[in-house]
Amino acid sequence: MSWNKFGIVVAMLTALLGCEKQAAERPMLEIHGRTMGTFYGVKVVGDFPGGQQALQTQVDSLLKHYNDEISTYDPDSALSKFNQQQSTQPFAVSQDMADIVISAVRVGQLTQGVLDVTVGPLVNLWGFGPDKRPVKTPSDEQIVAARSRVGINRLHVEVSADHATLRKDVPDLYVDLSTVGEGFGADKVAEFLEANGVHNYLVEIAGASRSRGVNAKGEAWKLAIQKPTDELEDIQAVIVPDGRAVSTSGSYRNYFELDGKRYSHIIDPVTGKPITHKLVSVTVITSTALEADGLDTALMVMGPEKALDFAREHNLAVYLVSKTDKGFKAEYSAAFEPYLVRSGS
Ligand code: FAD
Repeated sequence: MSWNKFGIVVAMLTALLGCEKQAAERPMLEIHGRTMGTFYGVKVVGDFPGGQQALQTQVDSLLKHYNDEISTYDPDSALSKFNQQQSTQPFAVSQDMADIVISAVRVGQLTQGVLDVTVGPLVNLWGFGPDKRPVKTPSDEQIVAARSRVGINRLHVEVSADHATLRKDVPDLYVDLSTVGEGFGADKVAEFLEANGVHNYLVEIAGASRSRGVNAKGEAWKLAIQKPTDELEDIQAVIVPDGRAVSTSGSYRNYFELDGKRYSHIIDPVTGKPITHKLVSVTVITSTALEADGLDTALMVMGPEKALDFAREHNLAVYLVSKTDKGFKAEYSAAFEPYLVRSGS
């Protein structure tokens, strides 16, 4: 676990934004914890049944449950068991697992395969999964071999009233849900809060967030998009998500350097290699954090021009930051404008 993975988040900077104002007027419960190899935070304005301790215990337990389901870092998780099964026979999974895979495949199809949750062999080959980091870049032969195991059309989900299964067309298909896991977790915590009568909250897991209602000052939640630098306090933009989910993906914190070259953790499934263009951060606002979390990675793969075209075509709220010779350049779609309070250049 590293601070870097948390550093990319949009929303934990709300604490900094909050400092600009006077003391809270309404009671607020605040919890933090670790999950999915990163950190999470939840703010609840008003009461929670059983108070802060109950909130902490129940959210920890909920997130542990989903981690145990979908982590590829845990060899005993349900997803790891599916990956280990070298067979094309249907594999029974929970309804939640079926739902997350269905949503991830849908985003994959919408983005013509640039988001591909079967890209795991390439992620691992480049050293960004549970496997160790490579001491040298993989050879073309290794990339071709790993790519031959990748393909979102080879993964199938079947759901009936009381049963759900995953099935692979090739026995060594490997599913990596890292790109949507935090968003899925944020959605599940938001659902849990709603089910407990909480309607003013902010949930953040790494770069994915869900919020609703107002903060302790009775104002709409404001979130910050960080500048793609190493300084956590550098704010690129401020948004009011107005009840929508937000997710940010970036290539500027999770990378390794070899022979003076930077290799991002975001892999283009077509080339089988880390992306190399100038787009360094993408923020997406949409209805679920899972979808936003998948789309931000997909747009990272596309690069700035295609990402903006895709956002216009699908009326998607998207904020992009690209690296330039002089610093950074921000661009956003028309659908993003209503959420934007202020933006740096
Ligand atoms: P995002 O942009 O949201 O996703 C990028 C990630 O998606 C890449 O790191 C790669 O895994 C994958 N990816 C890359 N390219 C593509 C593509 N084209 N299509 C689809 N996927 C792609 N990390 C640890 O170090 N230790 C842990 O114990 C650990 N446990 C985890 C448990 C769970 C349930 C999950 C979901 C993740 C876990 N992680 C763990 C991983 C980690 O915390 C982050 O999820 C990961 O680093 C990527 O998240 P991100 O938000 O930085 O990037």
